Amino acid sequence: MNIALIAHDTKKELMVQFCIAYCGILSRHSLCATGTTGKLVQEATGLSIQKFLSGEAGGDQQIAARVGCEEIDLLLFFRDPLSPKPHEPNEVNLLRLCDMHNIPVATNIATGEVLIHGLERGDLDWRNIVNPKTR
Ligand code: PGA
Repeated sequence: MNIALIAHDTKKELMVQFCIAYCGILSRHSLCATGTTGKLVQEATGLSIQKFLSGEAGGDQQIAARVGCEEIDLLLFFRDPLSPKPHEPNEVNLLRLCDMHNIPVATNIATGEVLIHGLERGDLDWRNIVNPKTR
């Protein structure tokens, strides 16, 4: 499966810890991320991650474009609900596209845990029918 990772600045350490904890599962999938999130997770875990632009430079829009093409199977987007971001409209659009294409999304770690266990259990295998190009 293709898994996309995005974490706002105050959630980046949480994302890193999450990816360390689930490194074994994540290593069996293709990962991509916004620039800084991807760099931090890759440094901490050694996982291979396709890194897009930073979120504020349009990395979230690059991921949104892939969602629109059914190329993302799961989005882990750990958001900071307290500080508004200049590129927030793009993020709203990203979430809108996920809803449009029925892409499983976690916007906090609690849902992230549920989705990662579901992924491991095969609950998301139906994505292989929608997106047969990924494993
Ligand atoms: P970043 O982007 O991973 O490049 O920091 C995420 C964000 O939008 O904050």
